[in-house]
Amino acid sequence: MDFNLTKEQRDIQRAAREFAEGEFPDRAEEFDRDESFDEEIFKRAAELGFVGVWIKEEYGGLGMGMLDYCLIMEEFTVVDPGIAIAIVASPFGAEIIQSFGSEEQKKRYLPPLVTGEAVMGSAITDPDAGSDLAGAVSTTAIKEGGDYIINGSKMFITNGDRADYLLCFVVTELDNPDRHNRHSMIMVETDREGFEASHLTGKLGIRASDTAELSFNNVRVPCTNLIGELGQGFKEAMYLFNLNRTGIAAQAVGIARSALEESIRHVKKRHAFGASLASFQATQFKIADMFTWIQAGRNLVYEAAWKIDQKNIDHKLIAAAKSFCGQMAVKCTDMALQMHGGYGYLAEYKVQRLYRDAKITEIYEATTEIEKLVMARNLLG
Ligand SMILES: Cc1cc2nc3c(=O)[nH]c(=O)nc-3n(C[C@H](O)[C@H](O)[C@H](O)COP(=O)(O)OP(=O)(O)OC[C@H]3O[C@@H](n4cnc5c(N)ncnc54)[C@H](O)[C@@H]3O)c2cc1C
Repeated sequence: MDFNLTKEQRDIQRAAREFAEGEFPDRAEEFDRDESFDEEIFKRAAELGFVGVWIKEEYGGLGMGMLDYCLIMEEFTVVDPGIAIAIVASPFGAEIIQSFGSEEQKKRYLPPLVTGEAVMGSAITDPDAGSDLAGAVSTTAIKEGGDYIINGSKMFITNGDRADYLLCFVVTELDNPDRHNRHSMIMVETDREGFEASHLTGKLGIRASDTAELSFNNVRVPCTNLIGELGQGFKEAMYLFNLNRTGIAAQAVGIARSALEESIRHVKKRHAFGASLASFQATQFKIADMFTWIQAGRNLVYEAAWKIDQKNIDHKLIAAAKSFCGQMAVKCTDMALQMHGGYGYLAEYKVQRLYRDAKITEIYEATTEIEKLVMARNLLG
């Protein structure tokens, strides 16, 4: 067993870190405060090949694997989690096109995502259906001639207000009682009549990332916008979740590592009772625990990602990575803030932002509780 990354992987890591350090720090606080983002940063990331790295070369991408993607995610996130997610999630959901779309759909939708000419999102969650997707999603797409007519609404959609096209998880098989065979994935261009996106404000963290509520009022799209197989949307969504959960686990590792780096800097500089904070055993134990948990989380991420690259999707390992890393990021940022004392409570200290950003890794792409259910189902049968 070789635990070393290849030279190519170390080069990707270095390039991602250099790009993020050059572009993110000056704007991170502003984007967080104003809940804004500068698309120019995204365009530069796309020019350098950091967007949709896993898209195959024939569709303009670099054809990289999940492990490469996780390396970029961690390095970007260490510098700023909000900007990182705004960039790397810009082609959110395109994995479904690449895996289940027709050749014509791949050629139409994938290349503009890599060049940064287009942004996409995946509209899966309904206002009344997050964890219980199969049972409760009620947005419908009814066939009428050569079109689908879409009605309903979607909640918490990343890039909802930014996207040029959105892959929507909708009920198409209304009469099918089998909750796992009722949904399909349909692409909706956001300039279609009857579509509306409202940007959601007041998020706790990752505030540079756009999140929106969507409404579909008799939105008409051609039947050729169906991506994948009719009635198989749930299976396709689960495929997407497995890939993205691994990426979010890498995001959590990046947040925790950033919290550790900030803490080490702070405790070496700050003094109390005539001694450096770093000299107190209580501080040292926190630093040692954070290092151990980050290392354990990263090993879970690397193994889950490596298996995906070997075409061996291990559901319980992915769920373990996402669940462990999310909880670990929340715990590490809490400890980091505590080590910063009152300063950690201030917006000008990065550790406050990390503390707020960490929580999302326990919520999106399935909550910690749902991940534990996935593991339990796999283990108990
Ligand atoms: C910033 C942000 C971005 C997002 N981006 C997207 C996106 O791009 N696309 C998209 O489709 N969705 C997106 N989401 C939605 C996200 O995936 C859901 O919020 C998440 O899956 C949880 O669903 P919910 O909010 O409906 O919570 P609920 O399902 O209502 O869950 C509430 C609580 O109940 C618990 N719970 C539910 N069922 C069970 C059970 N059976 N056993 C034990 N506990 C249970 C949950 O773990 C949770 O703690 C985003 C959310 C946020 C906040």
